[in-house]
Amino acid sequence: MKQQNTPASDAPADIFGTKEMRSPAPVEFIPKDKTAPEIAYQMVRDETYPQTQPRLNLATFVTTYMDDYATRLMNEAINVNYIDETEYPRVAVMCGRCINILANLWNTPEKAEWKAGAVGIGSSEACMLGGVAAWLRWRNRRKAAGKPYDKPNLVMSAAYQVVWEKFCQLWQIELRTVPLTPERKTLDIDAALKICDENTICIVPIAGVTWSGLNDDVEALDKALDAFNQKTGYEIPIHVDAASGGFILPFLNPGVKWDFRLKWVLSISTSGHKFGLVYPGLGWVVWKDKKYLPDEMSFSVNYLGASITQVGLNFSRPAAQILGQYYNFIRLGFEGYREIQHNSMEIARYCHREIGKMKCFRNFAEEVVNPLFIWSLDPAYEKTAKWTLFDLQAALQQSGWMVPAYTMPKNIEQTVVMRIVVRQGMSRDMADMLLGDIRNAVAEFEKLRYPTTSRLKFEANEHQKGKVYTH
Ligand SMILES: *Cc1c(COP(=O)(O)O)cnc(C)c1O
Repeated sequence: MKQQNTPASDAPADIFGTKEMRSPAPVEFIPKDKTAPEIAYQMVRDETYPQTQPRLNLATFVTTYMDDYATRLMNEAINVNYIDETEYPRVAVMCGRCINILANLWNTPEKAEWKAGAVGIGSSEACMLGGVAAWLRWRNRRKAAGKPYDKPNLVMSAAYQVVWEKFCQLWQIELRTVPLTPERKTLDIDAALKICDENTICIVPIAGVTWSGLNDDVEALDKALDAFNQKTGYEIPIHVDAASGGFILPFLNPGVKWDFRLKWVLSISTSGHKFGLVYPGLGWVVWKDKKYLPDEMSFSVNYLGASITQVGLNFSRPAAQILGQYYNFIRLGFEGYREIQHNSMEIARYCHREIGKMKCFRNFAEEVVNPLFIWSLDPAYEKTAKWTLFDLQAALQQSGWMVPAYTMPKNIEQTVVMRIVVRQGMSRDMADMLLGDIRNAVAEFEKLRYPTTSRLKFEANEHQKGKVYTH
């Protein structure tokens, strides 16, 4: 006979009293049976529990704070697919408006109602689209001239973000790089022009170099390239990888010419989810004029009362980030963006100064031009130190911080550096907590009687490969 349930036995087991909580999580096969939603939720959530708190993750460039309204707006749009333009035409319109706003922020000369651009899942997709357009323009020109078009190359500094390696691999384009030196910390323009030829599809300077936070000098490049193109008869253009700088320079250094004001800058990409201040994933690419966007890459939609050009590698993608970007433009305005970027920059400069005052460290550059910077051990200090920056990374992790240590690119790869990216959400108080934790860790290291394992490896001259964070 069925036992009469008492109210007590009726109550479901506490989540941590269930059998699921003492059973291994599925690794290889879909479970045969169902799991109660609250238990499944707890299991999945707890998977992420020991991870770094996103706002203490100073390795990433990607947004880890948005206000409540933005968060609500994006959550409400979580079920909207951007590509369903017929069903959600207003999303396409908002996307077009964001592209217009960016094009104008970057001083486009284009007069068309809808500027030529595209949304991407990040700068990676945006860079690829800019790269493909440059390659197709070059190819079409070569074809028209009856010249071979099977050996394209692309020129940039060795401090490229990994997307450019991917782009060149996937499209079979030769990646020609200019090494950095301890003296030349950004793209060496003369050296770049020396490796350009008739097969160069474009040069890619970086505004906000991922490895160092510095800016390649796009204005000087444009000037030198103009003379070079005139002399050689080439038409090598510039694509600016402004993943970070695209949302910093217009607000903090409007006088610096790096954008469509320059003759050979035909396309620019940026990450909406970096200093565009939107949660991932969102990237943007804009062309100076429709004529630089090859027809092969675009299709037009006409049901919006105007024609919007659509370009992309992906098809389906979330619409929420586009809403987040448009919300930020309205909510913050130029002045709001300027204030937030200014604060991030001030806090980065403060950390840079304080790190610079510590005798064990040496900043990589004197200046902070984006809200991020790198530093290394002072060379004299390093000679006798019993620890390395990898030890410091591990020590800071104990207090929840993620401050990555890594080795620099080709030619200066023997330099180990540490990087801080200051984003919205990092206050002066948090900076002081971080600096305190750094000072404490260093004080502990200085009490060491024996070198750390990492230091022994360093001494054995095994170039340790730190985990390279190049978001
Ligand atoms: C971050 C970054 C990228 C890649 O951007 P995602 O938005 O992460 O795809 C490309 N170039 C540079 C210079 C970057 O800093």
